[in-house]
Amino acid sequence: MIACLGRFVPENDVESRAENDDVSTICKSLGLKGSIDFGVGATNGSADKDFGGMYSYKPLAVIRPSGADDVAVVIKAAHLQSNLTVAARGNGHSINGQAMADRGLVIDMGSTGDSHFEIVKVKGSTYLDVSGGALWEDVLKRCVEDFGLAPRSWTDYLRLTVGGTLSNAGVSGQAFRYGPQISNVAQLDVVTGNGDMVTCSESRQPELFFNVLGGLGQFGIITRARVLLQSAPDKVRWIRLVYAEFDEFTRDAELLVSLKEERESFDYVEGFVFVNSDDTVNGWPSVPLDPAQVFDPAHLPQTAGSVLYCLEVALHYNNSDPRSAVDAVVDRLLERLGFVSKLNFPVDVSYVDFLLRVKLVEEHARANGMWDSPHPWLNMFVSKSNLAEFNRAVFNEILKDGINGPMLVYPLLRSKWDDRTSVMVPEEEIFYLVALLRFPPPHEDGASIKKLVDQNRGIVQYCKDRGFDFKLFFPHYKSEEEWKCHFGDRWTRFRDSKKAFDPKHILAPGQKIFSRISNEP
Ligand code: FAD
Repeated sequence: MIACLGRFVPENDVESRAENDDVSTICKSLGLKGSIDFGVGATNGSADKDFGGMYSYKPLAVIRPSGADDVAVVIKAAHLQSNLTVAARGNGHSINGQAMADRGLVIDMGSTGDSHFEIVKVKGSTYLDVSGGALWEDVLKRCVEDFGLAPRSWTDYLRLTVGGTLSNAGVSGQAFRYGPQISNVAQLDVVTGNGDMVTCSESRQPELFFNVLGGLGQFGIITRARVLLQSAPDKVRWIRLVYAEFDEFTRDAELLVSLKEERESFDYVEGFVFVNSDDTVNGWPSVPLDPAQVFDPAHLPQTAGSVLYCLEVALHYNNSDPRSAVDAVVDRLLERLGFVSKLNFPVDVSYVDFLLRVKLVEEHARANGMWDSPHPWLNMFVSKSNLAEFNRAVFNEILKDGINGPMLVYPLLRSKWDDRTSVMVPEEEIFYLVALLRFPPPHEDGASIKKLVDQNRGIVQYCKDRGFDFKLFFPHYKSEEEWKCHFGDRWTRFRDSKKAFDPKHILAPGQKIFSRISNEP
């Protein structure tokens, strides 16, 4: 049983049946080019579910727009109703119901995935104009296959939508050099909470542009984004390096992200914590990249503790590069690092396969039922100066036996993030992404899932009590006080922008930041 913490609409609820009838009448009168499902049709699909699997809020209707015009019509119609809300749904890979609308309208952006796909050149740079509903996986395949080009900054997993990740940040191992995905966008088409269709950029309507980036869907629905491209390499040397000591792991990770120029460092830097045991998910077997590689724990120093660290790096190269030249660059970089000798796992893969690497994890998890089970994940940014204590208390104590899924930890640079966007990160220049990506075994009962949610809360509370400089990534709060605390001195700007671009609080109700302002006196 999944731990459904959200509210279901009772079938005999007279009020909800009346609402259904109203919405059906409203929606039929809109003259949309796309399609609409009401009532049972709306709740038969996936709009009341997400990857987190812990919340379920049933919408009154699901709209599959044909493009931005339909999105604008729907938002304008919601304006005229006393309490109707609208949630854009990307691919529903949120964890805590953020893409849902309880008795509201869900706009399934997937139907607009092909609305835009055009390479444009502006002042010597090359961009892709792409729909907000497009999946990054399709962006990758089409850009590389048709043009030999690719976006610079990615997420680890690509079955996420352009609008969904740009509403959060979009982070992976390229972000130390290029910043998150929201630092790699030059222009957006947005339908605001007023139903206005606006093209915005750094120089045109900048307030809307920067607020929407990392804006948790609060100010508008992204229908097109202009994403900066670079030429796509053919191949990647992908390497995992094992560390027994936390200090050496972080020193090397920070060295690599401080060498920002191409060929001075790797092109991708991430890391994870794993358990010093033969556990198949969180132990030694989780490190090798090729079935022929074996993790021999005899190479570990005697001083190794119960958790170990792995730096994951990758270097881009082309088929035309001599192998000796690639080896020379890799050897020069590895010489500077203090990983455990002989615990070094390299493979050469195509660039596309490297970026699609989590697909294999997905296939495996789907096969054993863990993809569709609940995922009580915790994602946070923790400043460098608090990470050693976090490591001692959280990785070496609370989670020392693993979490049945990856425990990512890698450094990012604040100077690559734009303070004008809505996303919140710690104050220090170097901070770490910490991601606890739990895959509980299928059929765990609600109580077991709740325990994991409580453990996440305990970790967050520990960080608060210790006065850490940290922020939740994909924040999930229930009270205005907590949201104010999250945004700190940027709360007023966030609230005032909401007033300007979505004055009735129609958009993204699943984030639970603002409540719908009723039209009724
Ligand atoms: P949804 O979950 O559908 O929506 C997220 C929020 O954005 C909702 O509030 C929704 O209303 C709003 N929204 C959706 N589309 C639009 C739009 N067009 N305009 C305005 N608002 C919109 N994130 C990373 O940064 N890096 C990673 O490496 C990474 N890996 C992941 C791996 C997995 C397996 C999963 C499940 C998630 C991962 N994520 C990662 C998290 C992911 O970025 C977020 O969950 C993101 O919200 C998912 O995108 P989505 O398209 O499914 O959006």
